[in-house]
Amino acid sequence: MTIIDSARPTAQPHITVMVPAYNEEKNIAKTLQNISGVLQQMSPHWDIVVVDDGSRDNTAQVVQTLVDIHHVTLVKFSRNFGKENAISAGLGYAKGDFVICMDADGQHASELMLTMLEKWREGYDMVYAVRQDREQESSFKLWGSRAFYRMMSASSHIEIPRDAGDFRLMDRKVVDALCALPERNRFMKGIYAWVGYKSIGIPYTPLPRLHGESAYSKLKLIALAWTGITSFSVLPLRLSSLTGAILAIIAFAYGAVVVIDALFFHESVPGWPTVVASMMFFAGVQLLFIGILGEYLARVYDEVKGRPPFIVADVVRPAVAAQPEQAAKPARRRKPAAEA
Ligand code: UDP
Ligand code: MG
Repeated sequence: MTIIDSARPTAQPHITVMVPAYNEEKNIAKTLQNISGVLQQMSPHWDIVVVDDGSRDNTAQVVQTLVDIHHVTLVKFSRNFGKENAISAGLGYAKGDFVICMDADGQHASELMLTMLEKWREGYDMVYAVRQDREQESSFKLWGSRAFYRMMSASSHIEIPRDAGDFRLMDRKVVDALCALPERNRFMKGIYAWVGYKSIGIPYTPLPRLHGESAYSKLKLIALAWTGITSFSVLPLRLSSLTGAILAIIAFAYGAVVVIDALFFHESVPGWPTVVASMMFFAGVQLLFIGILGEYLARVYDEVKGRPPFIVADVVRPAVAAQPEQAAKPARRRKPAAEA
């Protein structure tokens, strides 16, 4: 049953919380406990989907012991496919009237789900949490994220909300639309904005990680930003063409000057350093732009190969007694996005 919008203020929705987890053996139990504590205040119908993104520690084993206690469906990947893919997979197993995505490391306060529920009742289809603590971050992250958002808003027709991550509520309509997207290079921040729907941001300050360290190194963050830029904008290609055109005009004008000079004013000009310097410059620019073309081609190649973005090795569901409806059938069959 899908809850119609006018029924939201009084509805008792089925809520699914989706948690991607990679090497979170020390955090996941506490996180699940916090989540289920708040879920019990929100609705009588709820479940949790944990996607174990190929953890090398005992995350899956820990979750397995909690499957019945916290109504958890555990989806185990065959290896680490990355958070973006873990989220995509988790959404496919979520059967709630809305889905809330949260990190496994305890940085996302479960209590914020209550505010998200309020906003959903008011009629919003997507409620995303917006970080308020950016000023305290390292200057690399601060300036990097500023540059990223500036570039995205200048070059892409979709508006990605600043400082909003994966911590968000998504109505069934949004989830169905996300699941219907076939692309493999999934940059979720961009995809959330691309699907649209009535959205609102609510402020939050991330808590400190319970244990361990973030899986996102500087290099990984740069790679993610680059995926975002190349998935949602053709600005690098346009810049290459523009620079190429400007250089070609300059080169043509300079060539004309040299020819006129040689024909009418001087016998012959040695000009060796000029030739070498300009050759090196143009060769460098050409290589750079071939590289950028290659980046896009690589993405096209990736899509054309048609490999699945992740492989699910195993799914553990709660026992029938705990969640009869859930154990009996797999994830609910989804309508195509167009019908949503
Ligand atoms: N995560 C994941 N796969 C990965 C890396 C991270 O599923 O390859 C999960 C991780 O377990 C956590 C969330 O994504 O639940 C956010 O990761 P992390 O805390 O490392 O990143 P940060 O908080 O710095 O964004
Ligand atoms: Mg974290």
